[in-house]
Amino acid sequence: MSKHGNANASLWLRAFRAILVVATFLTAVGAHSASFIESSPVPGGIALVELDATKYPVSKPAPDVTWNGKFIATLLQADSYFALVGIPLSTKAGEHTLSIGQKNSPTSSVNFIVNAKTYEEQHLVIKNKRKVNPAPLDMERINRENKRLKEVKSYRADRLIAQQFDWPLKGIMSSPFGLKRFYNGQARRPHGGIDIAAPEGTPILAPADGLVVDTGDYFFNGNSVFIEHGLGLQTFYAHMSRIDVKEGDRVTRGQILGAVGATGRVTGPHLHWSVGLNATWVNPLLLLPTDLPPPADY
Ligand SMILES: [Zn+2]
Repeated sequence: MSKHGNANASLWLRAFRAILVVATFLTAVGAHSASFIESSPVPGGIALVELDATKYPVSKPAPDVTWNGKFIATLLQADSYFALVGIPLSTKAGEHTLSIGQKNSPTSSVNFIVNAKTYEEQHLVIKNKRKVNPAPLDMERINRENKRLKEVKSYRADRLIAQQFDWPLKGIMSSPFGLKRFYNGQARRPHGGIDIAAPEGTPILAPADGLVVDTGDYFFNGNSVFIEHGLGLQTFYAHMSRIDVKEGDRVTRGQILGAVGATGRVTGPHLHWSVGLNATWVNPLLLLPTDLPPPADY
């Protein structure tokens, strides 16, 4: 939730949309490349699906692509357009179909395969029981926050702003992406990001260029920042002790966003780092250079 209140937040929303319209106008159609993104068509992964260049030549604007009614980004790579699909962790392995053409009247489709992947279980003990079974008053706040988060996750700048990604900090990966999670023995949503343990106050850096689309103090996530990197590719930072950016800020790769903390539902100071694509959490490792070692130890 915005620290500046809902009125200002929606003002910003309107301004942000205006910026997007201008950005669309100023940039050439379709000229996006995202060679830093690794294709891994599994639940929680990213599928790069080539569109038939004879039907959709790159000399023409990229067609609209949707999956289960959700906008899917398209990129120009080599001599073809590719759909860039974030695959939810709950997706069943097998063949899936993207619709091409307008959302309500698609004119064609393309199939892609999602391969099976099994994620491990993780059992956590949370001392603050209210963070596991929230009180009715907390539920009001949580529902309000979920509405806001849904809105934020649907933002997308019409061009890719990020060029490459780095780790947002040094630390120890204490919890990988995709774990099936249990809090005090109760099943909860799978882990939609990577946890990096580091001392409280460790600076968190923007891993790539982007726009800050939300900051706030959330019930589960604590102090949080949301960044849009273009075409709905987003990063999310939670449990921060301090936030150094605000909604509307343009951030550059390496800029300090804030610091590691232990706010929200946590067992100790760490950064929870998520990557979103078409409003779906995907494995952040798919954005990082494959030859990069894990973040350095403290
Ligand atoms: Zn986490």
